[in-house]
Amino acid sequence: MLTTNERMIRGYAIIAKGDDPIQIGENKFKIPSQSHDEYYIVTKGYKVWTCTCPDYKYRKVECKHINAVKFWLKLKDKLKEETKERIVFKAQENGVITCPYCFSTDLIKKGFRKNKSGKKRIYLCKTCNKKFSVSEGFKHMKNDPKIITLALDLYFKGLSQNAIVDHLKQFYDVKVNQSTISRWITKYVKIISNYVRTLTPDVSGMWAVDEMALKCNGEWNWLWNLIDTESRFLISSMISQGKVRDVETARKPFKEAKKITKRKPDIIISDGLPAYEKAIKKEFQANKKYGISRTLHIREIAI
Ligand SMILES: [Zn+2]
Ligand SMILES: [Zn+2]
Repeated sequence: MLTTNERMIRGYAIIAKGDDPIQIGENKFKIPSQSHDEYYIVTKGYKVWTCTCPDYKYRKVECKHINAVKFWLKLKDKLKEETKERIVFKAQENGVITCPYCFSTDLIKKGFRKNKSGKKRIYLCKTCNKKFSVSEGFKHMKNDPKIITLALDLYFKGLSQNAIVDHLKQFYDVKVNQSTISRWITKYVKIISNYVRTLTPDVSGMWAVDEMALKCNGEWNWLWNLIDTESRFLISSMISQGKVRDVETARKPFKEAKKITKRKPDIIISDGLPAYEKAIKKEFQANKKYGISRTLHIREIAI
């Protein structure tokens, strides 16, 4: 029998795989079975969640489908926030300032505030009485949640940021630059990381590591992601400051992964960054006494 923790992980894996639930009613969701060619119905009740799968039927526990829907709703909330920002920026682009809390245009100017990122005008909303600031000449976000989700999907399927940019241009006629994609990934990764830290995932022995340059406020940082190749589970993810990609920095995502999974991978696939070789050797040492062999490092150099 599965533990609560395992059900949560499997629920997350369903979403990570791209099997999104379909909302069929206010509180009803259709979700594909992972073993049979059929669907289960997850219902959000007043106090309890229910599912039509055998696991729920016989054990009355929160099955992986319920967990999948819960996680998916959490993610959707985050995307909704993005949409809200988009409405505000869209209005700004047309020369209209709207309150980000209630979208009212009944505002009073309250002077300026200066900080690192420039000069901001302060407004007071007469409708909801909240204060907010607007950057002068702010770049708006033109992209909707569908495109964001698609870009993230492609990223976790292993596409490079450049390939994602090309894909969006070719198939959707959407022009997004690489830094925008970086920003989406960073945001998404934060949500996932917070979630993953509450779990002990049951992952396979083959992991893939990838580092990605992120430009934040004119400074280059690196985002490190370690993914289980079988479930596409994001085991660990972290951002390191500065341009450095030395052994000690490359080692950190492995250290975190060890803590989370409590295991040693058999194989790690990387993009060939030289620092990985030593980082893997140091973090996943062989131990002859206990019959533990070393982790194999496979370099997959992009052409
Ligand atoms: Zn179920
Ligand atoms: Zn308001």
